[in-house]
Amino acid sequence: MEKSRVLIVGGTGYLGKRIVKASLAEGHETYVVHRPEIGVDIEKVQMLLSFKEKGAHLVEASFDDHQSLVNAVKLVDVVICAISGVHIRSHHILLQLNLVHAIKEAGNVKRFLPSEFGSDPARMMYAIEPGRVTFDDKMVVRKAIEEAKIPFTYISANCFAGYFLGGLCQPGHILPSRDSVTLLGDGNQKAIYVDEDDIAMYTIKTIDDPRTLNKTVYLRPPKNILSQREVVQVWEKLIGKELQKSSISEKDFLATLKEQDYAQQIGLGHYYHVCFEGCLANFEIGDDGLEATQLYPEVKYISVEDYMKRYL
Ligand code: NDP
Repeated sequence: MEKSRVLIVGGTGYLGKRIVKASLAEGHETYVVHRPEIGVDIEKVQMLLSFKEKGAHLVEASFDDHQSLVNAVKLVDVVICAISGVHIRSHHILLQLNLVHAIKEAGNVKRFLPSEFGSDPARMMYAIEPGRVTFDDKMVVRKAIEEAKIPFTYISANCFAGYFLGGLCQPGHILPSRDSVTLLGDGNQKAIYVDEDDIAMYTIKTIDDPRTLNKTVYLRPPKNILSQREVVQVWEKLIGKELQKSSISEKDFLATLKEQDYAQQIGLGHYYHVCFEGCLANFEIGDDGLEATQLYPEVKYISVEDYMKRYL
């Protein structure tokens, strides 16, 4: 089967650059959007040039220029968007509505993967304010995609390892301490951690797969479904030392959350659902979903222990 041509939007981002890499590695003709708005951001420009050196095509297009999006979309079979959804940096999920309009008008796209890559927003309709904005916005985009009858795949990637393992599941930390850790509640709720390059690889695997058409694909590497306590144990084994442990109760966590600025409240709200409620692992995948490691057993995913070795 001929491999689809892929357009990646948000290609210089934290996840986007890994999707570009995976798309090239899997032999897809790969196009990356170059937004004129990035101007003289030398890091982004250099990254785009490095993609070109590795065989990608750069396409100039802007979210503010409908025709430029239509033209870009017409070059490919598959569009993957990895636009920012992280409030501590920026959050632009709803800009994707412009992309949906362009894909609808172009009429040639066989698959669209919007910027999801976290908790399944369809299961987060009860999420607390203001963190629920992430899920609400992603659902607005889903509705537009489905109303426009655009073929889709939604990737539920669970926890980016860099944020969650790096910080031993503590919000506001991305490097593991060798001395102490604060457990969220009893630290026993299971979450699911995925190396960001693995997220990108599973994402690319789905695009030409008829099984994943109009489905949600959950990334649940079986070895990486661990509680915070278990993550801490993995780290303790690696450093050969026990950490001092304290814990924060659900009530205190929610009280602290209310004292933070808007962006931080959003992030803390997400940690609340993951670490106090176990929202990532406490359900069975239904008929509208599939699990990535079962679909693609050939991908040798990175285990939590191997991921954490980088912090030694
Ligand atoms: P980034 O913050 O790295 O941003 C990605 C890209 O968004 C940027 O590179 C840029 O693309 C584009 N962008 C940023 N600002 C604008 C703007 N004003 N107009 C147009 N485009 C803009 O994103 P992440 O990689 O952190 O997030 C990607 C997805 O992953 C999101 O859906 C997010 O919610 C999710 N996520 C999930 C996490 C988890 O633990 N499950 C953790 C973090 C994110 P360009 O290349 O064009 O400049």
